[in-house]
Amino acid sequence: MPGQQGPNAQPIIWQPSPNFGDRPADCAIDMLVLHYTGMPSGEAALARMCDPASQVSAHYMVEEDGCIYQLVTEAKRAWHAGRGQWRGCTDVNSRSIGIEIVNPGHEFGYRPFAVRQMDAVIALCKAILGRHTIPAHNIIAHSDMAPERKEDPGELFPWEQFAVEGIGLWPRIDASDHSPQNTAEIITPKDGLSGSQSPYHDDKVASAIAAEEQTSPQNAAALMDGIAANGNDNTQNGSEDCEALFDRLLLQFGYGPGDPVYNRIAFQRHWRPHCLDGRADAQSIAILKDLIDQCPPLS
Ligand SMILES: [Zn+2]
Repeated sequence: MPGQQGPNAQPIIWQPSPNFGDRPADCAIDMLVLHYTGMPSGEAALARMCDPASQVSAHYMVEEDGCIYQLVTEAKRAWHAGRGQWRGCTDVNSRSIGIEIVNPGHEFGYRPFAVRQMDAVIALCKAILGRHTIPAHNIIAHSDMAPERKEDPGELFPWEQFAVEGIGLWPRIDASDHSPQNTAEIITPKDGLSGSQSPYHDDKVASAIAAEEQTSPQNAAALMDGIAANGNDNTQNGSEDCEALFDRLLLQFGYGPGDPVYNRIAFQRHWRPHCLDGRADAQSIAILKDLIDQCPPLS
C-alpha cells in the first residue's frame, strides 16, 4: 500500500502512475527485477513513468539520494519488464515487482551507484522479501530476462553486496583476485569473440570444475591453475565445446533461448562483472556451475 515507511523511517513518496493493470488471478509474486532508469535525471524518469503515453512504469523508483517513490501498488501489475523471459516465465510483469534505480545508464553517462541509494534499495528489497516469497534465483537484472535488449542495471551494480544482505545469488567461489587482464590471458582465446582457438575442451573444463568442487577451495585460482596445467592443446573444436557447455548451462540456469552471445554477456554483467567479453572461459563456467548448484532444478 502507498504510504509505507522507507528505510530509517523515511516515508515512501506516493507518486501514482496510470500505467498498470491487474495481475492474473491467483498469480504469485515470486520475482524481483532491478533496473536503472537510463535517463538524464530521476525527475525525467519519474515523469515518463507517470505519462500514460509512455506505457511504462515500475512499482518503485529510488533516487540517487535514497529517496523512494512508489508508482504502482505491489498488488498490481506494473509495466517494467517487457519482452523476454527468465526460467521459463515469459510474462515477467505478472509475477514480479520492478524497481527502477536512478542512473543515467550506458547511454547518458553510466556511473557508480551512490551509497545512500544502495542502502535505500537494500532496505526496500528486504521489505519486499518480507511480504512475498521470492527465491534468490528470481532476483534478477532486467538484462538477465532481456539480454538482447537491455543492459540494466549494469556491471557497476553491487550484486555481491546485495547477496551478502540476503538479496539474490552470488557465487560461493572467490573469483575476485583475477584481474580482467589475467582472466583474459589465462583462460580465453586471444582472437575474436567467435574464434575457435580456445585451448580448452568441454571435458577438460568440466573435469576441472569437478575437481574444484571435490576439493572445495574457496579460491578460483585453483581452478584456473588446474585448467592452465591440463588444457593446453589447441584444437579447432575446443572453443565450440566450451561455448556449447556454457550456453547449455546458461539455459539450465534460466536464460532464454535467444542469441547465446547476449546470454553470456548478460551473465557476466551480473555475476562476473570485471570481464564482459562474452567468452566461454573457465572462470565464467565455474561461477555459473556454482550458481546452478544453489538453485532448484529448472522444470
Ligand atoms: Zn530496465
